Amino acid sequence: MDNRIGGRPTLTPTLSRPGGRGGIPSPRLIQRCPVGCDAQLVTSAIVLPEGPLLRCAACGQLVSQITTAAYLRSMAAFDSPGFNRPSGSESARRVALARRRLARAGRLLGKSPGEISLIDVGCSRGDFVAAAAQLGFHAEGVEPAPQIAAAARDRGLTVHQGLLEDQRFPAARFDVATLFEVIEHLPAPMALLQECHRILKPGGILIASTGNTASWTVAAMRARWDYFHVAQDAGHVSFFNPRSIALIAARTGFGVAHIGTTRVRFVEESAAPRWLYRLSKIAAEFANLPARLLGTGHDMLIYLRRAP
Ligand SMILES: [Zn+2]
Repeated sequence: MDNRIGGRPTLTPTLSRPGGRGGIPSPRLIQRCPVGCDAQLVTSAIVLPEGPLLRCAACGQLVSQITTAAYLRSMAAFDSPGFNRPSGSESARRVALARRRLARAGRLLGKSPGEISLIDVGCSRGDFVAAAAQLGFHAEGVEPAPQIAAAARDRGLTVHQGLLEDQRFPAARFDVATLFEVIEHLPAPMALLQECHRILKPGGILIASTGNTASWTVAAMRARWDYFHVAQDAGHVSFFNPRSIALIAARTGFGVAHIGTTRVRFVEESAAPRWLYRLSKIAAEFANLPARLLGTGHDMLIYLRRAP
């Protein structure tokens, strides 16, 4: 599992050219660097079924060559109330992870939970919202998939259905906004970061998690890393590294408060004999600590601060 709390979100972007019907060729979903660079996208050596990932010559962001039509099909397959329902042990792991993330946000803000209002964007079934509410945070969620949002509300949580932009929250409404495993799904993430900036108080914290392409995992596995596979993980199309994160943050009015990475993997369980997978797990255990220290783990957790 990736280092996620709410699991894969279901943010459906607003697209003006769905395409792909009636024999009209569907356009490529991502035409330029999602981080906002004015630089060419060049072919990388990571070759997927949709074609090689393209790399921004300026920031190193990797993007899928998937068509808009194929992307929309992959996103539509996941709106079900049972989606992302964790097992008991996975549930406990997510709560512990949520508590660590919330504690760091509290320290960065210098506030106690009862003084902090929080919005989890792409909240899925609301696991992170529930963990935050339990600790005394004023926590709400936004989830675009109707059935999943309804399942979260059935748990007694405050979860708004739709896109963040549709909620029309007042400016400077929240102390914390979170985007867990969201930005890698978006062909144009800058608009969402700008909306997060608008609804955050000056000095507020945006927490995001996503994969790290400047990781030993990617160096070792390249196209074999599951995370790159759009159909397997519902629409991953845009892949960050610490440099591209810092650039998109600066371009949307944020400063980087903290970037941490964890975990390394050399072999996917589904693609290797059992003995090789076990051996690679042991090697990955040894690599975890140096990867954490060097910033070369594949799970990236980012704390951004809205400029005061
Ligand atoms: Zn770029």
